[in-house]
Order: sequence, then structure tokens, then C-alpha cells
Amino acid sequence: MILLDGKVASAAVKESIKQETAVLLANGKRAPHLAAILVGNNGASETYVASKVKNCEEVGFVSSLIRFDSEVEEVTLLNQIIKLNNDASIDGILVQLPLPKHISEAKVIETISPDKDVDGFHPINAGKLVQGLPSFIPATPYGIMLMLEHYNIQTKGKHAVVIGRSNIVGRPMSILLSSNLPYGNCTVTICHSHTPNLNELCLQGDIVVAALGRPGFVKAEMVKDGAVIIDVGITRVTDETAKKGFRIKGDVAFEEVAAKAAAITPVPGGVGLMTIAGLLKNTLQAYQASIEG
Ligand code: NAD
Repeated sequence: MILLDGKVASAAVKESIKQETAVLLANGKRAPHLAAILVGNNGASETYVASKVKNCEEVGFVSSLIRFDSEVEEVTLLNQIIKLNNDASIDGILVQLPLPKHISEAKVIETISPDKDVDGFHPINAGKLVQGLPSFIPATPYGIMLMLEHYNIQTKGKHAVVIGRSNIVGRPMSILLSSNLPYGNCTVTICHSHTPNLNELCLQGDIVVAALGRPGFVKAEMVKDGAVIIDVGITRVTDETAKKGFRIKGDVAFEEVAAKAAAITPVPGGVGLMTIAGLLKNTLQAYQASIEG
């Protein structure tokens, strides 16, 4: 069984980005610049944004963190995004989700310039992805593709089962795996909360991507011997024995599934780290497009 280690694969991606950035700086160019917006003080969101900022610094990017309290008016947030859209020194903009209920996530996403949409959530980028046109790929599915590439997991002609159909993970993942790409060309089944025979379908998957947010959902009896298992789930599960009072759990019952799998991602230490690698790649891509003008 191969452990698809996010630390190893993301370090390789980050190292190549770091080297590219060093060359830019040595040539007198400015560094790529990511602006992250955080609304409120949700614990998980704080952790994700802090990690994104830290990773930017590690590869030599500039990052700006813009914070609003949870009561911020939608218009204030939209105006801030417009300001960043018009600022030529900013290459990428991300707004950490989820947002408070009174703010429309759709409006926020659509306000970000598609050229700076490094999360790849804007409908223009989503549409381009569907048509196989160059676009920003949502960071988590992008990170998973980078993971498959790093470990040279063969995908062509394989049956991939994706559990979850969200716009940020499941659906774009299903599109990438079915696309004519070096680590695509799968036959894809996409399962969701209304799929009646999920266990039966999952059992047919050569590759299973679990992205539903139900800890330990994928059990050994649902996967075939030799399957490749990608666990996207991140759920905080209360655990009094843990220092923080919780543990992070994936959507896969790791021990029992690992015993049958050919390869599997751990949680934590798997897809989460690759998501950041995907975000950094997108930011560099936005920067390159911007300086080429
Ligand atoms: P979401 O809630 O938007 O979507 C969940 C999807 O799972 C839905 O399409 C729903 O139909 C499906 N689903 C729910 N229950 C189901 C069931 N019992 N059977 C079959 N399908 C079911 O969630 P999301 O934003 O796509 O995130 C999914 C998980 O991935 C969450 O745990 C989230 O925290 C995690 N996540 C991780 C990363 C990362 O970097 N590792 C990034 C984004 C999301």
C-alpha cells in the first residue's frame, strides 16, 4: 500500500514554485501577491487562512490578509473585492468560505475578477473547466490532480467514483478525472445524497474520491481490493483527550480501508496540504498572466 503523503507531494510542488519565484526576483520582477479575505472568526477558517498566508511566505510570495468582523455588510465586502480587482499589484484574491448567512456567497464569488479568481470558483472559470479551456481549477481538485501526478497514479481507462457534487470539490473533480488530461481519462460516476445504490457503485471504483463531509463514511466493505482512495473530508470531531478538544477526521475509515487499498491519502496530511499547493500554482498562473499583460 502506498501512502499518498500530502507533505511529500506538496513540498515538491512548493519547491518548484519557490525556485520559479526566486528567478523572478533575481530578474528584478515583483513577487506574486495573494490577497485573502477572512470574515468573522470561525476557528477552522482562521486555521486555513493562516496556513495559506504562511505557505505564500514560504515560497516567496507576498500575501495580504484583510479581516472583517462577522457583522460586516455585504456591500462593504463587495467594495473591498472591487478595490482588489482594480489593484494591479494584487494577482490573486480569495475569500475564505463559509461566509455569514447575511452575505451571498454567489455574489461574492461573482464579484472577484475571473483573472484573479485563484480559488477557481467564478462561473466563468467553472465554465472554462467544463469546456477544457485554460482556467483556474478549484484548489482542492487541482491539488488532487497534482497528488496523482506526483505518485504517478495511472488513471486512463479507470473507473473513478466521486462521492459529493459540490462546486468546490466533487463536481470539478469529476470533470477533471473525465477530461482528456495526463491524469484524467477516467470513466466517472458521481454520487451524492440522493444516490440509492452508493455502496454498490463505490465497490466498482478503481479510484474513489470521498468528498462528502461524513467522518468514516467509506468503509472497507465499500471498496474493492487495490483501489486508490482519495479522502477529501475534513471534519472536526470532539475528542476530550485531544489537546484542542477535537480531532480532524476524514470521510474514509482509514485503517480498515488502507488494508485493502493500493494507495490512500491520510487525513490530516493528505489532500488538505495539496489544496494549498493548488492555490499557490493558481496564484503563480495569475501573476504570469498579469505580467504578460
Ligand atoms: P458540501 O457539503 O458542499 O458537499 C457535500 C456533498 O456530499 C454534497 O454534494 C452531498 O450531496 C454529498 N453528500 C452528503 N451526504 C451524503 C451521503 N450520505 N451520501 C452521498 N453523498 C452525500 O461539502 P464540500 O465543500 O464539497 O466538502 C466536502 C468535505 O471535504 C468536507 O468535509 C469539507 O470540510 C472537506 N473539504 C476539504 C478540503 C481540503 O482541502 N482537504 C477542501 C474543501 C472541502
